Amino acid sequence: MILVLLGAPGSGKGTQASLMAKSLNVPVISTGDILRAAIREQTETGLKAKAYVDAGRLVPDGIVAEALRERIGQADCAGGYILDGYPRTIPQAEMLEELGISPGLALSIEVPDSDIERRMTGRRVCLSCNAVFHTEYNPARQEGVCDVCGERLTRREDDEPGTVRERLRVYHEQSEPLKGFYERLGRLRIVVGTGDVSEINRRLMETIP
Ligand code: AMP
Repeated sequence: MILVLLGAPGSGKGTQASLMAKSLNVPVISTGDILRAAIREQTETGLKAKAYVDAGRLVPDGIVAEALRERIGQADCAGGYILDGYPRTIPQAEMLEELGISPGLALSIEVPDSDIERRMTGRRVCLSCNAVFHTEYNPARQEGVCDVCGERLTRREDDEPGTVRERLRVYHEQSEPLKGFYERLGRLRIVVGTGDVSEINRRLMETIP
C-alpha cells in the first residue's frame, strides 16, 4: 500500500509518517529529507534545489521527480511506502498516476495556520537521522540531543518565521488543491492534526483498512 500524507508545513507529517512507518513496517519517503541530504552533499540535484528550499518555494517538478524516482526504485520500497511531502502540486499527483503509482489513500492532517507558526519555531531536527522533535510538544530526553542517534539537534533554516509564512502561502496556493484531486478519486481522508502526537497517530491508523 502506498500512502500519501498531505498537510501544511508544520502539520506533523514527518513525525506521524515515522510513527506510521514503524507500525506498518514500510519506509517513509520524504522528498524534503531527500532534497536536504542532496543539498548537504552538494550533489547536482542539491545545487539545483538549494535556492528554492532556502526561500521556502517549491523545487521545480522535474528535479523532485527524478530524486523521487531514484528512491522508490530501491528494494525496500517494493512492499509499499509512505510519501511525506510528495505530491505537492496537481501535476506531481498526475505524474504519479501516469507512472502507475497510485496511492491507496491520501491522509490530510489539518492544523489551523495560527497553530503552525508556533509549532515551527519550536521544531528541532536531527540532521543525521532526520528524527523530529519539538521543544514544547515532543521534547528530546536531553535538550538539543537526538533520542535516536545521539547527534546534535538543530532548527531548520526554512523554519525561520518569514520563510514559514511563505511556505504556508505556497501550501494554500499549490498543495491544498490536492485534497480535491484525491477526494474525486474517493481516496481522501481528513484527520484533525491538533492534540497529542499519539492521539493523532491513532486517528491516522484508524483510516487504514
Ligand atoms: P518539507 O521538509 O517537506 O517541508 O520540504 C522542505 C522543502 O523542500 C520545501 O519547502 C520545498 O522547497 C522542497 N520540497 C519538498 N518536497 C517537494 C515537492 N514534492 N515539490 C517541490 N518542492 C519540494
